[in-house]
Amino acid sequence: MAEQTFIMIKPDGVQRGLVGEIISRFEKKGFYLKGLKFLNVERAFAEKHYADLSAKPFFGGLVEYIVSGPVVAMIWEGKNVVLTGRKIIGATNPAQSEPGTIRGDFAVEIGRNVIHGSDSVDSANKEIALWFPEGPANWQSSQHKWIYE
Ligand code: UDP
Ligand code: MG
Repeated sequence: MAEQTFIMIKPDGVQRGLVGEIISRFEKKGFYLKGLKFLNVERAFAEKHYADLSAKPFFGGLVEYIVSGPVVAMIWEGKNVVLTGRKIIGATNPAQSEPGTIRGDFAVEIGRNVIHGSDSVDSANKEIALWFPEGPANWQSSQHKWIYE
């Protein structure tokens, strides 16, 4: 199966009307949308998603942030989509994110950085299993041969 990543538009991205812009960037690049849901998550679910960060001093604030409003959870598929997705998103701290990246263009503070993307194939698989237990949608783009050699 082609590589997949988990992307989440955080509550600030939803509130600021960035959903269409963000989806558009992944679509135009040539990645395929294989899962999409708009939902509020429970505190325990947010804690599970960020379990690796539970010892960090910012963990409590991070969980508050993620449960503060609805999020858009997505599966995106394509060649090197995990690493390339992280590049499209930009550095964790928007003060260091390059212009042209989502965080570089739309965020100022690390605790309001608009979007999440899996940091490895292994965490992508774990996050997709957590957020999409039903699995990805099954479809193939008719444009595939115009994007991939
Ligand atoms: N975060 C924060 N303060 C920090 C580091 C991280 O508030 O000092 C938040 C930030 O929203 C970040 C999230 O915690 O996106 C997860 O941190 P991680 O290091 O996994 O960054 P990411 O993978 O999102 O770039
Ligand atoms: Mg991370």
